[in-house]
Amino acid sequence: MNSPLLQQYAAVAGADVVRQLQLLAKPLRGMQVVHVNSTRRGGGVAEILEKLIPLMSELGIDARWEVIEGSPEFYECTKLFHNALQGQNVAVGDKLLREYERVNEINAMRLRPDLEQADVVIIHDPQPAAMLRHMPKRKGKWIWRCHIDVSHPHRPVWRYLRPLVADYDASVFSLADFVQHLPHPVYLIPPSIDPLSEKNVELADSEIDAVCERFGIDRSRPLLLQVSRYDRFKDPVGVVEAFRLTRPFVPGLQLVLAGGGAADDPEGEAVLREVHAAANGDPDVHVLLLPADANRVINALQRAADVVLQKSLKEGFGLTVTEALWKSKPVIGGDTGGIRLQVVNHQTGFLVSSPEGAALRLRHLLHAREQRMRMGAMGREHVRQHFLNTRQLREYLTLIVALVGRMTDRIELV
Ligand code: UDP
Repeated sequence: MNSPLLQQYAAVAGADVVRQLQLLAKPLRGMQVVHVNSTRRGGGVAEILEKLIPLMSELGIDARWEVIEGSPEFYECTKLFHNALQGQNVAVGDKLLREYERVNEINAMRLRPDLEQADVVIIHDPQPAAMLRHMPKRKGKWIWRCHIDVSHPHRPVWRYLRPLVADYDASVFSLADFVQHLPHPVYLIPPSIDPLSEKNVELADSEIDAVCERFGIDRSRPLLLQVSRYDRFKDPVGVVEAFRLTRPFVPGLQLVLAGGGAADDPEGEAVLREVHAAANGDPDVHVLLLPADANRVINALQRAADVVLQKSLKEGFGLTVTEALWKSKPVIGGDTGGIRLQVVNHQTGFLVSSPEGAALRLRHLLHAREQRMRMGAMGREHVRQHFLNTRQLREYLTLIVALVGRMTDRIELV
């Protein structure tokens, strides 16, 4: 295998996984595939594309990544789209809609020579979605990749966007629950993590020790962790309650709640205050406010934990669960949304619906080292098979093979 990045992935995801990617990519060699989104840095989409593009290139595909440029009003409009698609009752005025259309047209003019020639164009989210209107001579297949939960969109906004995306050849959603009915094939490609990112790479024990020492965490005592924004749907106060109920049965128990971004989010600030009130100065409850780039710190905390909690009351997918399972940690997760795909009850962790339920499982697991190890190993394998970015790439390739080869019900690999 003469490709350095693929070799690195083979080492963590498995040589079989990489061989399968090579097989799938064989009929796609030399094909022009262009991804388009609205930002080069920041956010989950950019993070995924940063690895997907070089991986596709190493597989022999002529993969490119274009980023559209917009005005502040354009981003104001697409932020409103985002909130409306997630169900908020927000109105988007005509002036903003015209700006959205204008920016799409300008970017379409700029990118047209490449995009009209490409074999496959993958447009991410609503920001660049209206460009298709300006590609009268397009040659290839156009796919709309929606990363947003559109299960209960604010209707007026969806009525505006739907005709724009209906013109695509296919669309892709993250989970079945997020899908809207569209007049073309709809595919499901769940989110994934990158095993080679700072958040997920193996760390030396000394680095984990140093992070624990910095936050006053004693590595010789049992440790619970929840990583999440300070948001009521993540139920951080419920986590403190579960900790309180468990502690009498597990001497020396410590809890870390690690989150960030609360300072610029009024709602987050209020939730953080509630968490502090619930913790009530307890020296064994560590409430951490981390900067946005604290990836290695989060990685270290996840590795230091004995059990990871994600006690969400509502959750899209729950990447924190994926991250913890990949580090071979059993996860006690809220019985909701994408957590159900990841926490296989009694196998990779436990699904719970209350602080009492969480405490019951914690009390049991913290006394069952062997079971924790077994569950951890199953969790890691579950993620290896289903939630690494190599699986996401495999599904993109499969989708392209199907669309370009006009095979909707059958894919032949020779
Ligand atoms: N995260 C982070 N810093 C924080 C809190 C969360 O980097 O203070 C990361 C976390 O590791 C995960 C992502 O943000 O990668 C959160 O994704 P998830 O799907 O769990 O929840 P969301 O915040 O999207 O609802």
